[in-house]
Amino acid sequence: MKQPVLTIVVPCYNEEEVLPTTIDCLHKLLMIMIAEEQVSSESNLLFVDDGSKDLTWSIIHKRSLTDTHIRGLKLSRNVGHQNALLAGLFTAKDTSDCVLSIDADLQDDIQVIPTFVDRFKKGHDIVYGVRKKRDCDTFFKRSSAELFYKLMNKMGVNLVYNHADFRLMSKRALQELEKFEEVNMFLRGIVPLIGYKSTSVYYDRKERLAGETKYPLKKMLYFAFDGITSFSVTPIRFVLITGLVSFFVSLLFGIYFFSLKFIGETETGWTSLITSIWLIGGLQLIGIGLIGEYIGKIYKESKRRPKYTVEIDSKTFTQPLPLKNTQRVKDESYNLNLRKLPETN
Ligand code: UDP
Ligand code: MG
Repeated sequence: MKQPVLTIVVPCYNEEEVLPTTIDCLHKLLMIMIAEEQVSSESNLLFVDDGSKDLTWSIIHKRSLTDTHIRGLKLSRNVGHQNALLAGLFTAKDTSDCVLSIDADLQDDIQVIPTFVDRFKKGHDIVYGVRKKRDCDTFFKRSSAELFYKLMNKMGVNLVYNHADFRLMSKRALQELEKFEEVNMFLRGIVPLIGYKSTSVYYDRKERLAGETKYPLKKMLYFAFDGITSFSVTPIRFVLITGLVSFFVSLLFGIYFFSLKFIGETETGWTSLITSIWLIGGLQLIGIGLIGEYIGKIYKESKRRPKYTVEIDSKTFTQPLPLKNTQRVKDESYNLNLRKLPETN
């Protein structure tokens, strides 16, 4: 039986510290899977450099020259994790039967990758990696992530609980994914919408091998807010309901104050007046802000801008550099100084 061609896509942003180890580990795993005839020998690793400012691309480039199982994609600038991932998935789709995505820091357990492929062979188009426990994450990261999943589910967005972007997708699932033309791609929300047969594989999440998180609090909040507003109109509805409630409450207060006036017990009223001005003013601002957020999204969608631009694809190098000279090569066209590279082989 012909084995499936697997591509493992790894988005990388300033990952020079961890990347040599990541490449080694994934490469070793892929070689074992090929040797054991779990996947085809045409399978490979695709590293997407998301506009890194460090030696990330040099490392990928160097390894892609010496190994046919390693391919690199350099994006012209930093477009964010989701878009970098899409660049990899859509590039890999044409040459693979199934594509697996994993973060460069190897927090997700690569030992379960053969199980992913197994499930794919059993007829699942999408296999989600789900974390059993998140002991290694900080308390704050863990609880904020859990709150996020719960909030999304309450708002009617069907997310797989504790699943990040460690997943395998078949070629036809990726072809369907490509039909979603929206600019604000929140993959964890969109992939379940494809609807093909899916399953989950459970694993323990580890600590980052090296380097630091590329998702500081500010980026994480943006990501969560983007996820919510890309998928759900509940916040707008919430504003509408709050507006209606405050309108009826103010009517009741109106009746109350009028009756006081008729009885003759008028209040000086400054406190209640100023409080309500602030309250209503605040509510209006929140409302306008939220609506603005959605209009902003419509504005971005209407422009249909490309989500990423590929600057270099290592597959298109027609003349690989002579291996012996690799150490001394200063590749001027790509502004690479390979002498600076740490030894990985
Ligand atoms: N990443 C990326 N572009 C970015 C930010 C992150 O490609 O703008 C990659 C990063 O290199 C890593 C993955 O996305 O492979 C997840 O990032 P990280 O591990 O820092 O996130 P965390 O696990 O802390 O949420
Ligand atoms: Mg990570």
